[in-house]
Amino acid sequence: MILSKKGEAISPSITLAITAKAKEMKANGIDVVSFGAGEPDFNTPKNIRNAAVKAMEEGYTKYTPAAGITSLKKAIATKLYTDNNLTYAESQIVISTGAKQCLANAFLAILNPGDEVLIPTPYWVSYPELTKLADGVPVFIDCKKEDNYKFKVSILEKYINEKTKAILINSPNNPTGTIYTKEELKELADFAVKHNLFIISDEIYEKLIYGSEEHISIASLSKEVYDRTIVINGMSKSYAMTGWRVGYAAGPKEVIKVMSNIQSHMTSNVCSISQYAALEALEGPQDDLHSMIKVFQERRDLMSSLLDKMDGISYIYPQGAFYIMVNIESFIGKSYNGKIINDSLTFSNILLDENKVAVVPGAGFGLENYIRLSYATSNSIIEEGLKRLSLFVSCIK
Ligand code: PMP
Ligand code: GLU
Repeated sequence: MILSKKGEAISPSITLAITAKAKEMKANGIDVVSFGAGEPDFNTPKNIRNAAVKAMEEGYTKYTPAAGITSLKKAIATKLYTDNNLTYAESQIVISTGAKQCLANAFLAILNPGDEVLIPTPYWVSYPELTKLADGVPVFIDCKKEDNYKFKVSILEKYINEKTKAILINSPNNPTGTIYTKEELKELADFAVKHNLFIISDEIYEKLIYGSEEHISIASLSKEVYDRTIVINGMSKSYAMTGWRVGYAAGPKEVIKVMSNIQSHMTSNVCSISQYAALEALEGPQDDLHSMIKVFQERRDLMSSLLDKMDGISYIYPQGAFYIMVNIESFIGKSYNGKIINDSLTFSNILLDENKVAVVPGAGFGLENYIRLSYATSNSIIEEGLKRLSLFVSCIK
């Protein structure tokens, strides 16, 4: 059987695969602790669920315009104006099946075969695969530990050539939880303008920030930057709506038009009911959002304080999102019960098989010697999982 070379070159999403494996183990009665899932453990707030029921009862169960319903686009434009100081017309917004489809549409809309996209390492697993699907070439920028794994313009300059088309910025970052400051964003913006690059700015963790740091949308820095930036955001993380599949992109009218046209053939509109739920999420009370942020912060503090007590481990202190990248370098080349730990993947596999803790190997994010733990889970699960991890590492010889 001969299949598409492009399709066959796409690897499955390791984050989704590990989450599914842990869920399956649990369903089979295995007492597994999962730090794999990049999704809030809370149910979607009640007012949002109620809005979905109401939409169904009122018959909003039909096709909508492919790029989304007008009322939701207006609510998104208001959100972008109020929170991010960005002004967009309706024609500059497209609502898609999660931020993931927004990213896919964006790459398909701007890339020609062989065009290069600058992606910082570590990166969220889907960026390279979505770039490749659009015939682009992911170019991984080796970010440095001392820079908190953020882009440095002096390093970026070395990667520029006539094929460089876009730069991808993800702040707050998955998997590191780091946030770009305004000064850092300004430097990146100048770099993008100088080299005439598109900026794809994935801001899906914007609300999940736990200190004095401020989220700044790079598009708001100047008209020149605004004109080349595609802002990506969505409902999944802030409103505990991962299953509803609502994301949105805002950017130059010409780009959004192409993205909408592509989507009109691929999936048509986002589920109509989910769009009405998203409208309530943006326009309704924000109390649940604020209490979720508070809980995530407490969990981050709990998880980091427990990691502090473990020998042989260090980690990137996260300022946002809900992940901690844990450095396991000191265990590489050693063994657990006679099983050799060669890399982050074998570490994660042995940890899951032996001590029933699911984590994502750093290799999935292009960064060896790390594992990613998600703290979008309860305090008791964090305590139990870290007890098991501590026991595991103490037995590595
Ligand atoms: N961007 C980042 C950085 C993510 O971690 C995720 C997680 N799924 C997404 C985009 C896509 O989210 P969704 O498709 O659920 O909106
Ligand atoms: N983004 C989340 C994560 O990184 C959810 C899974 C996915 O969509 O990849 O775990």
